Amino acid sequence: MSLFNSKNSAKKPASSQAALAEIALKNIQEGVVMIDVKGIIRFVNPAAVTMLECDSASKAIDLDYGLIIRLESKEGRELPERENPLVQAINTRQPLEKAQVALICLRSNKRIPIAISVHPIDDGSGNFIVTFRDITRELEEEGEQTEFISTASHEMRTPVATIDGYLSLALNPKTATLDERARGYLTSAQIASKHLGKLFQDLLDITKLDDGKIRPHFVPVEMIETIKTISDDYIERARQNKIAFSFGSNQKMSFDSNRRLSQVVYGFIDMDFMREIMDNLIENAIKYTPEGGSIYISVLGDGDRVLINVTDTGIGISADDLGHIFQKFYRADNSDTREIGGTGLGLYLVKQRVEAMGGRVWAESAFGEGSTFYVSLPRITTAEYEKRMIAVNNQATMQKIQQTSAQEQPQPQVPSTPPASSTPNSATPTQPTPTPTPTPVSSPTPTPVSSPTPTPAPVVSPTPTPPPAPASVNSTPQSITRSQAPSTPTPTPSVSPSPAPSTQPTSNISQAPKPVIPTTPPAPIPPPTPPTTPSPTSQNNINNLNGEAK
Ligand code: ADP
Repeated sequence: MSLFNSKNSAKKPASSQAALAEIALKNIQEGVVMIDVKGIIRFVNPAAVTMLECDSASKAIDLDYGLIIRLESKEGRELPERENPLVQAINTRQPLEKAQVALICLRSNKRIPIAISVHPIDDGSGNFIVTFRDITRELEEEGEQTEFISTASHEMRTPVATIDGYLSLALNPKTATLDERARGYLTSAQIASKHLGKLFQDLLDITKLDDGKIRPHFVPVEMIETIKTISDDYIERARQNKIAFSFGSNQKMSFDSNRRLSQVVYGFIDMDFMREIMDNLIENAIKYTPEGGSIYISVLGDGDRVLINVTDTGIGISADDLGHIFQKFYRADNSDTREIGGTGLGLYLVKQRVEAMGGRVWAESAFGEGSTFYVSLPRITTAEYEKRMIAVNNQATMQKIQQTSAQEQPQPQVPSTPPASSTPNSATPTQPTPTPTPTPVSSPTPTPVSSPTPTPAPVVSPTPTPPPAPASVNSTPQSITRSQAPSTPTPTPSVSPSPAPSTQPTSNISQAPKPVIPTTPPAPIPPPTPPTTPSPTSQNNINNLNGEAK
């Protein structure tokens, strides 16, 4: 304010303000671009000229914005128009705040992670102001935090597994004698240790994507068959919980090349992510649906999207909670949920994985009646599917050829003494290549998942009728807030006194830590029986794909 009320501004207020505005725009670190209603650039400030690498403002003015503002997803994926925040904001004339994407510089093709905002100007001109800023440093700091959480979670899983192992021994009537009161205490301790183990596993899973330890590995698949195969794994669990379980698709039927009736909806997805998403949604549906309820899963092609619904007739989610359930550590707190264990990380992981595949997830629910979770993913056409399958097969063939030729390569002769000319520092064939030290965090390799082979023409399965859809409460996808405090785990008071460490159902496919069983158990406890660990159910899809191609 004082600047505008200064002596100079009192003399020539309008020009002074314009001059000051110009100075501000010239010196601001954020890129500022004005675009008119036709998408033509009308103004560029110096920071934008530098970031975009367009030499000078005059060279950018009058150009279509798409020629110089080139964006990619922050994961490095090509951004189709419908996912391009700039295109979306301009088309809908809705303001857009701080979307995180990558800017591709014009000359160097360098990728700069940016937070971009687009605001329609409220002066009737139809123009937009686009601002963007380099967030490389912020992401680095976030990455350091994530790395810390990831390493800490990894390190803490081991002692927790040890505690769990000892508790299992103590609770096993074959290895220890306990009175009822002690059994009750130790049972509660074991529930808490299992909760802690699950918490660390979930934290590790979500940080893996955040810190780039895993990246989506896209493969073309037929979605109905893929989701059905994953869902089928839950038929038995639902039956044990006395919950009706059905799968369907309302996709139109057509004849495939073998004249079989088939339903086909193609997607281009990461199979491990898809499995984790469905595992979390179906496990929640089972967990939050009481006996006598029903669960219905469906897949349908909806224009250029694949829409997956997981509907249950369970406890439902209140309107207040619905706005937060995709946030980290958020758990609805009511008399029903208090009795049901959980970490509040499953839906965050679902949202993270869905968005990494260019999709969207949201929920509708009526408290006390049930919920539907929707996952919408980009759909590909049959032609695209076939093209991508050829690429996958070619890649597999290339890999095979490379492997074969590597095996056929004659082994280099290892000289017994290094050549005379060798300097102490020169790498000689006798020097083994130093193996990079593995990071303490679990393997970045996607964990095997079940492998619904992408079948071009799955045979139609009967389409069951969905249970009545709960009234829609909220269909807006929720944003992520990073600062939710973890809720306190609530152990269920009455627990099965089963002594052996049970196989904990995990909400994702990553391998749970193997419970560490003490090598020398304290006397008088005899050597332990190794507790069972959850095992991934099946094999990585891409391996199968490649296998098929061979
Ligand atoms: P949790 O481990 O607590 O289940 P999630 O992140 O998977 O964590 O879910 C967050 C919260 O959303 C849950 O605590 C629960 O309150 C609610 N929720 C998720 N799925 C359902 C569902 N199918 N029915 C009712 N509530 C649900």
